[in-house]
Amino acid sequence: MMRAFYHADQALHDPQQYLRFGRFVSAKDLPARTERLLAVLHEHGIVPEKSAECGIGPALKVHTLAYLDFLQTVWDRWAQLPDHGPEVWPNTFPYYSGRAEADTRPPCPATGIVGQIGWFLGDLSVPMGPHTWVSSLRSCETAVSAADALLSGEPTVYALCRPSGHHARTDRASGFCYVNNTAVAAQHLRQRYPKIAIIDVDAHHGDGTQQIFYNRGDVLTISVHADSDNYYPFFTGYAGEIGRGEGEGANLNIPLPHGSNGPVMLSALEKAVASVRAFGAEALVFALGFDGHKDDPIGVLSLESDDFGDIGRQVKALGLPTAVVQEGGYAVDVIGGCLSAFLEALD
Ligand SMILES: [Zn+2]
Repeated sequence: MMRAFYHADQALHDPQQYLRFGRFVSAKDLPARTERLLAVLHEHGIVPEKSAECGIGPALKVHTLAYLDFLQTVWDRWAQLPDHGPEVWPNTFPYYSGRAEADTRPPCPATGIVGQIGWFLGDLSVPMGPHTWVSSLRSCETAVSAADALLSGEPTVYALCRPSGHHARTDRASGFCYVNNTAVAAQHLRQRYPKIAIIDVDAHHGDGTQQIFYNRGDVLTISVHADSDNYYPFFTGYAGEIGRGEGEGANLNIPLPHGSNGPVMLSALEKAVASVRAFGAEALVFALGFDGHKDDPIGVLSLESDDFGDIGRQVKALGLPTAVVQEGGYAVDVIGGCLSAFLEALD
């Protein structure tokens, strides 16, 4: 029986809105997502263990202290603003080139709250409510607990993370993500394994994960995703981004044409698996998103629920100690079937 981790505080994060096509629309990262996935775990006889409250230590290995401090304290500062809105939102953004090789930033020069919000919240899809920080921390701790289980000899572990993490950079939240759970898990596994691979099959490019490890040769980051050219995160995710310095050759992006179906995803995943073998990875973090499903409300791919079974079989065939970290997937009615197919394949 596969072990899984989750913490009930993760459901406290309840975002209200984000900006899409020029309108404030209702949030897509609903607590109902987790409820659905928890129900599927129970159907499979998996009772998730409560993740350990280990604090920010593991997250500090991939995020700056200034950024984590900001996330932790911003709500209380926001609540002191006169006539503030229901959620922390930026109204300014610093210049950012978008280039994969040029995004390590200096410390935020502004000490005031509005400037800092603009600096650390990278777009209009990361509103912060009173509980966003605690849910993000618990989500990260869930990934850490999964990694700890691998370190103690477990072969495959599922981390039911929410909020997701793969768009969170060293010092910037974006795309519904605040703390990069996948990156934290990979870094945590470095305690034991010299070479780690990350495969990310969420429909969006794992831009935060890429940025965090872009200059490093010890963590191979692979992202299979819908072409960013006309899809979030737009400015990264292209095949030419291969890593830099010691990381050159340790970053692989496989963009898929919009509308791609299961077989197209599968053949891309075969390439990813071959790269993981060639790299000589000793452990895998598998960033699992379900927003490639054809019914996803913000998706552009055409996967069926059963395709996630084929994806699971590829992961199993790789035969590495694997932490499966939950990323996106917003069609509450179908993500259960996706997880179910994936779990059955891993059994
Ligand atoms: Zn996504």
